[in-house]
Amino acid sequence: MKPQFHPTLVNGPFGDPAVFVDFLYERRALLFDLGDIAHLPPRKILRLSHVFISHTHMDHFIGFDHLTRIFLGRDKMLSLYGPPGFIDQVWHHLSAYTWNLVESYPTDFTIRATEIYPDGKALAAHFHCRSGFRSEENEAFAVADGVVHDEESFRVRAIFLDHRIPSLAYTLEEKYHVNIMKNRLDELGLPVGAWLTELKGAVLSGASDDMPFRIWWRENGGIEERWMPLGDLRTRILIVVPGQKITYVTDTIYKGDNAEKIVELARGADYLFIETPFLHEEAERADLKYHLTAAQAGILARRAGAVRVIPFHFSPKYTGMEERLEREVEEAFAGMTIH
Ligand SMILES: [Zn+2]
Ligand SMILES: [Zn+2]
Repeated sequence: MKPQFHPTLVNGPFGDPAVFVDFLYERRALLFDLGDIAHLPPRKILRLSHVFISHTHMDHFIGFDHLTRIFLGRDKMLSLYGPPGFIDQVWHHLSAYTWNLVESYPTDFTIRATEIYPDGKALAAHFHCRSGFRSEENEAFAVADGVVHDEESFRVRAIFLDHRIPSLAYTLEEKYHVNIMKNRLDELGLPVGAWLTELKGAVLSGASDDMPFRIWWRENGGIEERWMPLGDLRTRILIVVPGQKITYVTDTIYKGDNAEKIVELARGADYLFIETPFLHEEAERADLKYHLTAAQAGILARRAGAVRVIPFHFSPKYTGMEERLEREVEEAFAGMTIH
């Protein structure tokens, strides 16, 4: 399977939490958590369309001002998601600056902030640059099955975890992944082109197999076209396989129903990014601080059947000893240790 998404930790395992998910076939990206992103080049920041924030402890949200500054003056909309109280916090960040010159901007950068509630409801507010980022157009909506964002090719689901405050964990699920069999295309005498993207879109949106589908390409200054039933094309040149899954879990305690919820969210994930601030010998301290240990993270990854586990949010006390945290996760993930 050719992957569509490429996730990376922005700051390494000791730095502020932030996972940048790049789209390999589009100039677009998503971000999980918004710690310090000063090391992310502006051209990459400008690819962001959606930012999913776990909670607003400073190390997870301090990148907000930098992000806003890079987007100022651009005709873009940026969607941010967070726990209850999030809209107010975005508003306070924006209100800390003076915006008297923005009315004359030719563009209208807009922030859409959504706060999610444990009862399956959500509230979104829009902050328009041109009106000095006053909050307007609040809209309430229901979040079915934890899906906070849904589009044609992927969805993002959130769950509530306990960090003594609500902390959101997220999973990005590509709905299906469509591969094109180039050799079959050649056998049918069909050229590659924009029509293949349209074909993938039609298949992913669940269009009927009987639907006549237009294949088109440019030739000799004109446009050539052929029509075939969608179902024919689907079975002859496409392979539809399960899509990629990327799960992001941070700042939570192992106790209560958190562990079960994490396992469910991360089930079969291709990538599980999960916090490991402490070694298991510090399990009591981890509990007190409402954080996971490396062994607990490894066990969760193993139980979820994740393909790979990427630990992060290492406590600075382990500087120079990071391989101890990494080894503990790996051993628990491989089932070599029992805690
Ligand atoms: Zn925290
Ligand atoms: Zn944290």
